[in-house]
Order: sequence, then C-alpha cells, then structure tokens
Amino acid sequence: MARKKKIEYYSYTEGNVRYMSCMNCGRYEKVGESATSVKCSRCVNFSVPFEQPKGYKPTGRPAGWHWMKEFVDKDGNVFHLGKEQPKLKGTLKPTKVKPPKKRKVKRRTRDEVLVAHYKKKKSDLKKAVKKQKDFINHNIDKG
Ligand SMILES: [Zn+2]
Repeated sequence: MARKKKIEYYSYTEGNVRYMSCMNCGRYEKVGESATSVKCSRCVNFSVPFEQPKGYKPTGRPAGWHWMKEFVDKDGNVFHLGKEQPKLKGTLKPTKVKPPKKRKVKRRTRDEVLVAHYKKKKSDLKKAVKKQKDFINHNIDKG
C-alpha cells in the first residue's frame, strides 16, 4: 500500500529530483524532499524589493551635470563637460546644485478631470449663448 502523502502543490519526481509547481506561476522548480510549497527562482526574484544595480552610487550630482561646461562636485572634483580635471581638483568652489523644481501642476484625479471638462463645456455653452444673444440684439459688432 502506498503511503498517502499530503500534496499541496503539484509535484513530480524525476530520478532522484523532486519538482514542484511554483505556487505563484506554476513553473516547476527543483525542491527538497520535505517541501510542501515552492516559489520558483523567478517569482522569488520578483518579490525581492527593487534594488539599485550593483555598483550604483548616488552621486548627488544634478541630472545633466556632465553636459555642463564646468561642474565641481562637493568633493572639489572638477569636470569639464563630464571629463574629470584632476589638476583643478580643490581649486574651485563646488557648483551649487539647485533642488529640482517642484511641479506646480499636481496630478488630477479622474473626477477632477471630469469636473474641469464639464466646467469648460459649460463656459463654452455660455459663450455660445452670449454670441446668439449678441446676434439677436445686433450687438455683434460692439462685442
Ligand atoms: Zn513562479
């Protein structure tokens, strides 16, 4: 008699290796004997919070600094069009970096868009009505 196993996720054995269906996407992944559920390597990677690429260091330099004729970073490194000028290091004051401009236009919600649309329509209608009135009153040249 075969021993009844509690199977929670699809699995099969090939040779000595057990494979189990990924609980997330269904892809089969190598698992150990005792595994009852598995996430494939892809899904594991997906669930890891996004990390900056290896070796990425925030420079604190403004966007487009390497297009600047002259840029001096906070350590006194001097760059001309993005090219480091070691001889000039420490001879110049760091370039002041302006904080990025805050966007004046805030993102409108769908409702706000609809309301704005409605208001515009209303005012267009008003204008049209006024035009008509002007026309009727023969005021069109005065307006
Ligand atoms: Zn998966």
